[in-house]
Amino acid sequence: MEEKKQICVLGAGIVGITTAFMMKEKHTKWDVTIIADKFEQDTLSDIAAGIFRPSTSFKGPTSEITKQWLVDAYHHYKKIQITKETAEAGVQEVSGYVLSSKFPEVTKNQFLEDLLPVYRRANELELKICPGDWKYGAFFTTLVIESRYHLPWLRNKFERLGGKIVKKTINSFQDVEDYDLVINCTGFGAKKLCVDHDVVPIRGQVFKVKAPWVKMFFYGDYDTYIIPGIEYVTLGGCRQFDSFKEEVDKYDSASIWERCTELLPNLKSAEVIREVAGLRPHRTPVRVEKDVFITSSGKRLDIVHHYGHGGYGVTTAPGTAKYAVQLAEEVLSGIRSNIYSKL
Ligand SMILES: Cc1cc2nc3c(=O)[nH]c(=O)nc-3n(C[C@H](O)[C@H](O)[C@H](O)COP(=O)(O)OP(=O)(O)OC[C@H]3O[C@@H](n4cnc5c(N)ncnc54)[C@H](O)[C@@H]3O)c2cc1C
Repeated sequence: MEEKKQICVLGAGIVGITTAFMMKEKHTKWDVTIIADKFEQDTLSDIAAGIFRPSTSFKGPTSEITKQWLVDAYHHYKKIQITKETAEAGVQEVSGYVLSSKFPEVTKNQFLEDLLPVYRRANELELKICPGDWKYGAFFTTLVIESRYHLPWLRNKFERLGGKIVKKTINSFQDVEDYDLVINCTGFGAKKLCVDHDVVPIRGQVFKVKAPWVKMFFYGDYDTYIIPGIEYVTLGGCRQFDSFKEEVDKYDSASIWERCTELLPNLKSAEVIREVAGLRPHRTPVRVEKDVFITSSGKRLDIVHHYGHGGYGVTTAPGTAKYAVQLAEEVLSGIRSNIYSKL
């Protein structure tokens, strides 16, 4: 019989909730508690359009591990998408175009070309679907995972398995010293909690609009994107490196609206539901590794860090979570880190 372990998952965004659920599902005897100060609609994860589309520069510790994360993540979501739970889980299949007037490289993606059932060059007629001088294009079919549905769906499943949830701000790992193991899924919060200068905010901003006639996604040049979700369509965006502004910026709003309605003019009659901005927790490589914290009383606290997914946390969470759970299993079976954190 499996020994009872006390595990704390810090963070309830897509990364934390996915990790906690996967851990509890696999190790039913482990006592898993999620501790976070923000949940569901208050998290960054709620802002994401949720399209499964990693950057070509997305990076884990090695290229093999990175690829495995993406393969695992895609198949995890795809497995949900073919069940009757897919609507409740906010997972749907969507097709669309990536277009560019100048850069053939933005229409290519080595990860998706290997993984998706359909990924091909757009033909001449397709390049004329949207107004603009589009010279390069790709058409592909991928998944959209909407956090507004997915987070509560996973939380319910986690709680039904006996997982616990605590709302609390953690100022230091000292605050969670009583656990056997801590999985640190604090996203941008890790910058402060771990004094990790490699975590950089990449600010983003989007509109959520009601436009039920939009059934396909479209990407244009310069971070312009239109991504249909279950209820609303996400219009974006921007990618501002090292910007800490969490408020909506009126100049970004004007730019996003103009770029998106130029790409798809029928969006001019869409009803704006809300506008939101957020800081993507960028880190190269994404940090999924074992660590040790020595508490003030000299106790050894094992940690598995799991943060820094940047603009691709929804895409990759199930893949990196599977890996984080493997690291947790190693720690709890005695293969612990010999790197001592300087936290
Ligand atoms: C505009 C925009 C669009 C995006 N679109 C996509 C997309 O289409 N596809 C995609 O894959 N990704 C997208 N992303 C990126 C995605 O949103 C992030 O990668 C993802 O949300 C990161 O998840 P997370 O769980 O690490 O962080 P979060 O969702 O921020 O969760 C962090 C959790 O940690 C908790 N926490 C932090 N510090 C502490 C502390 N000290 N004490 C207690 N709790 C703490 C918080 O309360 C929260 O629960 C987008 C991001 C933006 C801004």
